Amino acid sequence: MTLPVHTTSPTRPTTARSHLFNEGTVDDYRAAVAAGVDRVARRVTEVTGPFTGVRPDQVAPLVDAVDLDRPLPDTAAALDELEQVYLRDAVYFHHPRYLAHLNCPVVIPALVGEAVLSAVNSSLDTWDQSAGGTLIERRLIDWTAARIGLGPAADGVFTSGGTQSNLHALLLAREEALAGATPTDRRILLPRLRIVTSAAGHFSVQKAAKLLGLAPDAVVVVQTGPDRRMRAGAVRHELARCRRDGLPVLAVVATAGTTDFGTIDPLDEIAEVCATAGTWLHVDAAYGCGLLVSPTRRHLLDGIERADSVTVDYHKSFFQPVSSSAVLVRDRRTLRHATWHADYLNPARMVAARIPNQVDKSLQTTRRFDALKLWLTLRVMGPDAVGELFDEVCDRAAQAWELAAADPRFEVLTRSPLSTVVFRWRPAGTPAELADAANLHAREALAASGLAVVAGTRVDGRQHLKFTVLNPATTVEDVAGVLDLIAEHAGRYAHTHAAARSAELTCPVG
Ligand SMILES: *Cc1c(COP(=O)(O)O)cnc(C)c1O
Repeated sequence: MTLPVHTTSPTRPTTARSHLFNEGTVDDYRAAVAAGVDRVARRVTEVTGPFTGVRPDQVAPLVDAVDLDRPLPDTAAALDELEQVYLRDAVYFHHPRYLAHLNCPVVIPALVGEAVLSAVNSSLDTWDQSAGGTLIERRLIDWTAARIGLGPAADGVFTSGGTQSNLHALLLAREEALAGATPTDRRILLPRLRIVTSAAGHFSVQKAAKLLGLAPDAVVVVQTGPDRRMRAGAVRHELARCRRDGLPVLAVVATAGTTDFGTIDPLDEIAEVCATAGTWLHVDAAYGCGLLVSPTRRHLLDGIERADSVTVDYHKSFFQPVSSSAVLVRDRRTLRHATWHADYLNPARMVAARIPNQVDKSLQTTRRFDALKLWLTLRVMGPDAVGELFDEVCDRAAQAWELAAADPRFEVLTRSPLSTVVFRWRPAGTPAELADAANLHAREALAASGLAVVAGTRVDGRQHLKFTVLNPATTVEDVAGVLDLIAEHAGRYAHTHAAARSAELTCPVG
C-alpha cells in the first residue's frame, strides 16, 4: 500500500488550513511559536517589577475594543496586540518581589514539556488517545506514591489542581463511608455525614462538601491554637462527639502546608487517631508536597505515609506551570468509585484486556498530559535539584520572619516550617483599628506602585499581611526592601488618619 505524499508549495496562500499544525506547516509552527516565545523572553528581561499596578478599568477598554470577528493580518500583529492587552501588565511570578500567593516561578524543562504536550495534544483519558503518555503518567503517580510511602497498593491520577484533588479524595471517602448502603440508607446517611478539618484548612474542603451533596454544616471545623495546627486530641474529641451524635465522619482532612500560615498538622498523631477510629485520613499537601523531594526537610511530612489519600500540587512547590496536580490513594481499589464504563470510550472489557484507561480513575474525561512537564523536570533536573529550590525558599522565609520579628515596626505570627510569613505593621502604641486600616492600605498601595506584590489576610479579626516566598531568586535584601516600603505606606497612612482623627476630636464639626 502506498500512502499519499503531502507536499506544500512555498507560495501557498493563507487559507484556514494553513493554520493547522501538520507536516506541511512545521516551518510556520516553528516560526510562530518562536515568535511567541521571543515576546515572553523579552518581556521577562524587561519587567522592572512584578506588576505594573494597572487597574481593571484601565485594561478593560483595551480588551473590549478587540473585534473578535476581525482577525489581524498575522501572528506578529496578534502578538503586538497581546503586548497591550496582556503581556505588558501581567503579574510576573518570576520577579523576586512577587511575594503574594502560592504561585511559583516555573522551571525551563517543564516549559519544554508544555510546548510538547500541547502540540502533540494527547488526551490522557484512554490509551487509544495517548499511548505512552498514559504510562508516563502512571510512572509519575507511582513515583510520587513511593515518595509519600503509601505502599504497594497505591495509585492515583493527575488532576487540574488541589481543589479537584480534594474533591476527588473526598468523593472516594464518601463512597467508602457509604459502602454497602442501600439507596434508602444513603438518603438517610448522606445529610448526616461529616468531614473533620482544621480552621486553617483550605476552603476547597467546604466546596467539596457542597458538591458531594452533604449538609451545609457537614464540615466540622477544629479550632487551632496559636501554632495554627490541628491538634490530634481535638480531632479525637470531635470524632467521639460525632459518634455520640450518630454522625458518621467520612474523613479527617489534615493539612501539610496551610495556605494562610504554611503550618503542618501533626500528621503522625492525627493518623494514629484516625487509625484507632477507623476513619479515612486525607492529607492535603497541595503546598507542602515540595518537601517530598527536599534534601533536608522531608521529615516534616512524617506520618503522611499513613494517609488514605493525599493531594499534591506540583504547580505550587515543584515549580511546575499551572496545571499540575495529583490525588494519590493508599488502596487503588477505592478509585473504582469514580469509574464509569461508556461503550464508546472505555468499555468494561478493556479492563479485562488490561488496556490502561486513566479515565477509569479520573473525574475528567478529556485531560491534558500535564504529567509530561514533571517528567521532563525530573529527567533534566532530577528530584534533588527541585527539592533544593524548595529548601531555598523555606530558608528565605525563615530569614524574612527573623527580619520582621526583630523589627519594632512589625508584629509576626507563627513561624512557618515552609515559606509563609504572616505579619503586620504595628509600631508600639498604634491602635489596633488604625493598624488594620494601615496594613490594608499598604498592601493596595504597594501593588498599585508595581514595586512588590504581597498578600493580605485576616487573622483573629485583625488585618495582616503575608509573604509567600516561592522564588529562590528572592533575596533577603528584596524582603528588607519590601518591609521598608510597607512601613512607609502604612506609616504615612496612619500619620494622616491619626492627625485627621485628633483634629475631629479637638474641633468637633458644627
Ligand atoms: C492551593 C491549595 C489548594 C487548592 O489548590 P488549587 O490547585 O488552587 O486548586 C488546596 N489546599 C491547599 C492547602 C492549598 O494551598
